[in-house]
Amino acid sequence: MEECLFCKISRKELSADVVWEDDDLIVFRDIHPKAPVHALIVPKKHIVSLAEAGESDQELLGSLLLAVAESARKLNIDQEGYRTIINTRHHGGQEVDHLHIHLLGGEPLGAMVSK
Ligand code: AMP
Ligand code: ZN
Repeated sequence: MEECLFCKISRKELSADVVWEDDDLIVFRDIHPKAPVHALIVPKKHIVSLAEAGESDQELLGSLLLAVAESARKLNIDQEGYRTIINTRHHGGQEVDHLHIHLLGGEPLGAMVSK
């Protein structure tokens, strides 16, 4: 059993503001939002980062991107638009070592890439 934070949220051992979930992924609001809407799209499978994803994760990675678009619709930011970010390892600013996609929106986000 993985002790990681997002695995614990996936298993409901830690609470989170869940937007929606299915068998393979969970979407919840970031605890320190960097935009009016800030959600995280997280596979329930423990993959440390995008750098660790492999051929066998191809379908799951596709599902995560589709889940970004679906989450944006549910959060009512799909019409105005949004930003997605995947931070990978140290130089990418990754703090939680479980693959996740940031979904940010709700206002114009400017040109700088950040989360
Ligand atoms: P990253 O820097 O890409 O690894 O992003 C990790 C994100 O997880 C940060 O934006 C944190 O605010 C967020 N985060 C950390 N702990 C929690 C939590 N318990 N519930 C929701 N979001 C969290
Ligand atoms: Zn994990």
